[in-house]
Amino acid sequence: MIFLYISQLALSLHPLKLKKKLIMSSTNTVKTDILIIGGGPSGLATAIRLADLLKQKGLERRILLIEKGASIGSHILSGAVVCPQVFKELLPDVDLNEIPFNAKVCKDALYLISRKGKIKLPFDPPYMGNKGNYTASLGEICRYLATKATEKGVEIYTGFAMSELLYDENGKVTGAKTIDTGVDHYGEQLENFQPGSLVEAKLTILAEGTRGSLTKKLIQKFDLQKDRNPQIYSLGCKELWSIPEGRIKPGEIYHTMGYPAVQNRVFGGGFIYGLNDNKVAVGLVLGLDYADPTFDLHKAFQMWKMHPVVSKYLKDGKMIEYGAKTLPEGGWYSLPKLYADNALIVGDGAGFLTMPALKGIHLAIYSGMMAAETALTALEKNDFSEQTLQQYELLISKSSVYKELHRVRNFRQGFINGMIAGFFHFGTQLVSCGAGFFGKLKTHPDSRATKTLHDARKPLFKEKASTFEFDKSLTFDKVTDVFYSGALHDEKQVPHVQVNNPETYDKINIHTYDAPCQYYCPAEVYELHTGKTGHKELRIHFENCLHCKTCDIKEPADGITWNVPNGGNGPEYKSM
Ligand SMILES: Cc1cc2nc3c(=O)[nH]c(=O)nc-3n(C[C@H](O)[C@H](O)[C@H](O)COP(=O)(O)OP(=O)(O)OC[C@H]3O[C@@H](n4cnc5c(N)ncnc54)[C@H](O)[C@@H]3O)c2cc1C
Ligand code: SF4
Repeated sequence: MIFLYISQLALSLHPLKLKKKLIMSSTNTVKTDILIIGGGPSGLATAIRLADLLKQKGLERRILLIEKGASIGSHILSGAVVCPQVFKELLPDVDLNEIPFNAKVCKDALYLISRKGKIKLPFDPPYMGNKGNYTASLGEICRYLATKATEKGVEIYTGFAMSELLYDENGKVTGAKTIDTGVDHYGEQLENFQPGSLVEAKLTILAEGTRGSLTKKLIQKFDLQKDRNPQIYSLGCKELWSIPEGRIKPGEIYHTMGYPAVQNRVFGGGFIYGLNDNKVAVGLVLGLDYADPTFDLHKAFQMWKMHPVVSKYLKDGKMIEYGAKTLPEGGWYSLPKLYADNALIVGDGAGFLTMPALKGIHLAIYSGMMAAETALTALEKNDFSEQTLQQYELLISKSSVYKELHRVRNFRQGFINGMIAGFFHFGTQLVSCGAGFFGKLKTHPDSRATKTLHDARKPLFKEKASTFEFDKSLTFDKVTDVFYSGALHDEKQVPHVQVNNPETYDKINIHTYDAPCQYYCPAEVYELHTGKTGHKELRIHFENCLHCKTCDIKEPADGITWNVPNGGNGPEYKSM
């Protein structure tokens, strides 16, 4: 079995073609100094920085990075407009031209749009300017960073999903375990059963991105969100299009506010990013603190694409990729305590994202770099307790990350009661360095913002959008879009999305709320089936799942939990 396991790992190393193998004991256990869970910008930056610091000190330590996507980048989705400065700091010896950015931003504008009309803002709103930034595919950047990390000796294993944290007898984190494979829908072992491997580490760094499943458990177990605002999120749907030559220049970027968010009392807006090779990335990113249980962001995204501001770029083009992902919006006041004994949290998993700018990549990288410095101290002292790891929070609080997040610490909360109130709050925050009139503004979990069918304002979104039809050239239904995400899941496994209380689900989630998951899920995983007798039941097509985590965040009464599926399952993003 050990031999088989090692061969599987060797196979999983594509595309990095690593030579190293994990050295395992007979108990299927791997030992490492540092375990990094997640191969996004935060995890890769942690690995690169730590490898460099160790080299400078002449120390040799094992750094293992494990990613659930089949390859680095396959689960990565972003806009993306990227600030380049952080790459100079992470890779001081590398020429910026070597980093696979797409194009330097050459034109940047914000449109306020109604259903058909538009007004171009004559100035950049505060924090939204993009001078000096680059458009990019974050997946491509991550693949590049992974190559750099492996050159520096980091061991990267893709296609392995970490499904639980390991604890010692004192309740301290000791690593994590990969998911058991070869089980049926009910968890019964099949002939090809493989128990998950235990990866034991002195320090485990959680770089799982938005609503990380292990990060969530760590935060709950150690009450790391105590005295902080609950995290709140947005969901972004994105398509990548190949378009006729000359439609948009590489580096031309546009943002939109207004339609269809304002009409549906939802916070957020759209983006249009011109890329090389006659491609354009379009997306709609909306807050999940909306009230209408029937609001369907994917459908709103399709409606938004029909607006002339967007459709003029897409006409006669071809959609080539689709995906969706949530992002944390709560800002400074929603950051949890960033450490527990033997564990640190970096990137979106903690909530390092500055909302007015819709930017988290550089903050994910900075947080990873500071986690690496803390990890070095811990390795040198051979002490991974909270006492040593608190250095991470101190570093953050003295850094540019703090400055950037603190000045907009009340931004997103100001918009909870609508756009007019939001702009009023924002104005007061601008003249008071972020404080506003009312000091710390609070957030509430997005799942609690959903109103019941009875209480929600009428007409509901599902009624307003009932006549909308997908034309299959500019607009697509969810199933067609999912095809363009490359999502695949092994049929034989315990479904990774789980209804928490099947007994109350009918009464609460279906009858009182009309099963919001059938609307908000951007991949049609949830289908509300009505039988001949009129009985309604939820059917779950987990194979469509895009790992966006919306169901874990938005379902009323916290009715659904998202767990990791088998490693290598999920979307197969190429350039998202
Ligand atoms: C629609 C959208 C547009 C955006 N636009 C921009 C933009 O223009 N500019 C900008 O700066 N930021 C943007 N962001 C935000 C930015 O993408 C994130 O802040 C950034 O990707 C966070 O990096 P991360 O490493 O923390 O997480 P991620 O990039 O999400 O990476 C986490 C990785 O961990 C892996 N993982 C998770 N759990 C496990 C597990 N249990 N086991 C193994 N692997 C695991 C995931 O598969 C993933 O590869 C956008 C985000 C979205 C969704
Ligand atoms: S099942 Fe949940 S995580 Fe998967 S695509 Fe739907 S909402 Fe997103």
